[in-house]
Amino acid sequence: MSQRRPLIAGNWKMNCLRTDGLALARGLSDRAKAKGDLACDILVCPPATLISDVAGVTNGGAVMVGGQDCHVAVSGAHTGDIAAPMLADIGASHVLVGHSERRADHCESSTVIRQKTMAAHDAGLIAVVCVGETEQERDLGATLAVVNGQIAVSVPDDATPENTVIAYEPVWAIGTGRTASVDEVAEVHAAIRAELTARFDDGDKFRILYGGSVKPSNAAELLAVPDVDGALVGGASLKVDDFWQIIESCA
Ligand code: PEP
Repeated sequence: MSQRRPLIAGNWKMNCLRTDGLALARGLSDRAKAKGDLACDILVCPPATLISDVAGVTNGGAVMVGGQDCHVAVSGAHTGDIAAPMLADIGASHVLVGHSERRADHCESSTVIRQKTMAAHDAGLIAVVCVGETEQERDLGATLAVVNGQIAVSVPDDATPENTVIAYEPVWAIGTGRTASVDEVAEVHAAIRAELTARFDDGDKFRILYGGSVKPSNAAELLAVPDVDGALVGGASLKVDDFWQIIESCA
């Protein structure tokens, strides 16, 4: 584990009605309270419909709440979208930007993701900027070029270790049960770290999370990789026991 405090973040995606979501949030919050001194920060990103309720449950506790996306604008004619100040207004402290499902389903470019990241910062939110290569890009040997290119464009100049977290999520490992090997993770995280330190004076202080089929059985070895400062967890964040075991994997 690195000298940076780890962050274990759960991305609930488009899952959980109110009853289930609140039970999940309560379960985590209760365990965090009972445990007291935690070795990591904990974040959950529920669907937008639940952010306010989940924030109410976890209020004042160790579990932070984030959105899964925000618009680049602060308000206006953007039907169905959510502005970063709206997330902050209902208790979010973080927001995911550039998740590969958003990049694919909503054709989001790294330029748009940079604008969203800046909108998040302006609203006082910590942006979790997601990057990662597709299987085809990896097979072509383009992983580092793709990821570094995404970092270069998606991460704005106003980024600091306090307002920005990077999440490396190989697209082929998300929701597939396939996890990148320790060596693959180490190589990409080192490249991201080099990119950050080349560009920012305090580039060594940014947290870089790994995401892609993280589960209780593989969390400890992934979290032990140099420059892995936590995890972004999808499927396994929907069960209190599984997510908690991942949290407990932080040494
Ligand atoms: C994710 O959605 O960011 C993710 C990593 O999902 P999963 O853990 O299910 O692969």
